[in-house]
Amino acid sequence: MPRENDIARLMLPVLEALEDAAILLSANLEVIAANARALADFPGLEEGTSVSQAFGQKLLLEALCSVAAGQRRVETRQVELYEPFRRRLNVRAVGLPDTEESTSRPRAILLLLRDISEEERLARTRMAFIASASHELRTPVSAILGLVETLRGPARDDAAARERFLEMMHAQARRMTRLIDDMLSLSRIEAMRHEPPSDTVDLVLALRTVVRDLADKAREAGVKIETVFEEDRALVRGDAGQLEQIFRNLLENAITYGGSGGRVRLRLRRRRTRRGLPYFAVSVRDWGPGIEKKHIPHLTERFYRVDKQTSRNRGGTGLGLAIVKHLVQRHRGRLRIESKPGKGALFTVRLPASQERDRRA
Ligand code: ADP
Repeated sequence: MPRENDIARLMLPVLEALEDAAILLSANLEVIAANARALADFPGLEEGTSVSQAFGQKLLLEALCSVAAGQRRVETRQVELYEPFRRRLNVRAVGLPDTEESTSRPRAILLLLRDISEEERLARTRMAFIASASHELRTPVSAILGLVETLRGPARDDAAARERFLEMMHAQARRMTRLIDDMLSLSRIEAMRHEPPSDTVDLVLALRTVVRDLADKAREAGVKIETVFEEDRALVRGDAGQLEQIFRNLLENAITYGGSGGRVRLRLRRRRTRRGLPYFAVSVRDWGPGIEKKHIPHLTERFYRVDKQTSRNRGGTGLGLAIVKHLVQRHRGRLRIESKPGKGALFTVRLPASQERDRRA
């Protein structure tokens, strides 16, 4: 294949410079060359393989045939491949013109493949989030509009009703503010997901701050917060505000949903992974009603609530655990949720211990 060898030598550096998986095909649709990306993403792409063997995908072959026949110079399609796993690809076939002969058929064809599965998944998640966020915000807005109508009409001259309705409007407006704050907080955390925090934080201090902040709330709910800190210092790489937010959300949930048990336990321990790396495990345990198994995997999804009404009545937004999950991920940690109905709930966060030497040592 002297002509093919020539063109392969000429084109290979161009293929390697492309970000997409790029495959050069002869006019007979046989592989002449492929960049490293294509070889990694599509095993079995040897030189001389016919493209129908490599991709038995009808739309993709149609696009290639149309370009090979000289009907079109460029064809674009979105196709789905199922082997070796399911993925959606953006496919572009470009005919490279033949300079020597007076023919409309191309001399070779460049096939570009881009995996858009992740992009599409993100777009779907974003759409679903916007839909649920709008729905969540609409509830308090509708309530406020309804109350305004009542105040303008039937309750116009009723001073006692006016007070009551204003109080209800205030509560709904506060709920909207909480929702907006949580949504902004979540999008900020997501934006910095790939930047690990660089400060060194003492978890003991962060946990003490949270316990102090929630002391009134616990007292009002008749809940005793027990603290069991097995270390008097626990250094991790982290952002102090964000670490406090993780444990504030967990402790607040334990008081809100598990408060009927009368006590909540916050525990800090130092452990080692199987590979010997030190980490801290902070757990929040309550003795409330617990959570059914089927809900556990969904608790960290945005707006997921076991009981919508209870969460709303208690001022929940359904975003607390989603925020916790993202913050834990940013801190290279892990969140584990264990619970059985009637047996309370246990939320454990594992955070890698800072490798920085404890300066007191
Ligand atoms: P919310 O704003 O509704 O509290 P979260 O994301 O913090 O949102 O929690 C999601 C749901 O998980 C809650 O609505 C509640 O049903 C459940 N949940 C969280 N913590 C506990 C707990 N300690 N005990 C029982 N259920 C809990």
